[in-house]
Amino acid sequence: MQQQTIQNAFTLSGIGLHTGAEVHVHVQPAPADAGIVFVRSDLPGKPRVEARLENLHQQMRCTTLKQGNAEVITTEHLLATCYALQLDNLLVEMDGQEMPGIDGSALPFYQALSKAGVQRQAAEAKELVLRHEVQVGKEKALLRASSYDKGLKIEYVLEHDVAYVPAQYLILELSAEKFAREIAPARTFVLKREVEHLRSVGLGKGANTHNTLVIAENGTIIENTLRFPDEFVRHKVLDLIGDLALLGARLKAFVSASRSGHQLNAELVREIAKTQE
Ligand SMILES: [Zn+2]
Repeated sequence: MQQQTIQNAFTLSGIGLHTGAEVHVHVQPAPADAGIVFVRSDLPGKPRVEARLENLHQQMRCTTLKQGNAEVITTEHLLATCYALQLDNLLVEMDGQEMPGIDGSALPFYQALSKAGVQRQAAEAKELVLRHEVQVGKEKALLRASSYDKGLKIEYVLEHDVAYVPAQYLILELSAEKFAREIAPARTFVLKREVEHLRSVGLGKGANTHNTLVIAENGTIIENTLRFPDEFVRHKVLDLIGDLALLGARLKAFVSASRSGHQLNAELVREIAKTQE
């Protein structure tokens, strides 16, 4: 398998879900072995933030990357899409701190990246075949990776503390086609009762009922309709793929998750990187 980038550059714009700030993103091809590299064109010296595990910073409801003093947040939907499309190298120039939320899913990223065309590169793609089982978490929130030679298979059990969010289960073997159809359109969600708290800690400033599924106490979605009956678990799988992408390799493993979020995903990714040398 060879490394890949895109053929044609493109631009995407929108509002960050957490900062509420408008951002313009210019995505360009990058040379082999570059990886996915964000560039903060709004900061002096245009610092780079590489999508590598070492740059994974705090995880407050989104995947934050930090290199030096430069930070980029909410990178997971783009990274998940790159992973699913097997795009290894990209330059992502942005004039703000946060990736655009757009509709709260990975679909706009999928559409733009697949339209940009795939360019094969001379270098061999990195592959990580899991040899030793890895488990993180405890009690209800668990994440386990075990060996699976055919590719990346993901299983997710979503069980929420509140009764009005029903339990949901999904298992799939990842491919670009399945990602496009089953995962990319699934949008981010939040409980209505959490909104006030998130706002009070400075998050969710750009979130609204059009780019986020807001779940009311009677289980209905406020001012929106579901794209899948089990859209929530699909979005959890999307976020998990985005976090696994930080391994910087095509992972061959079976990842089984229950109730995990960005924090636990990060723990698993660190554990995999540490134990599979
Ligand atoms: Zn997400």
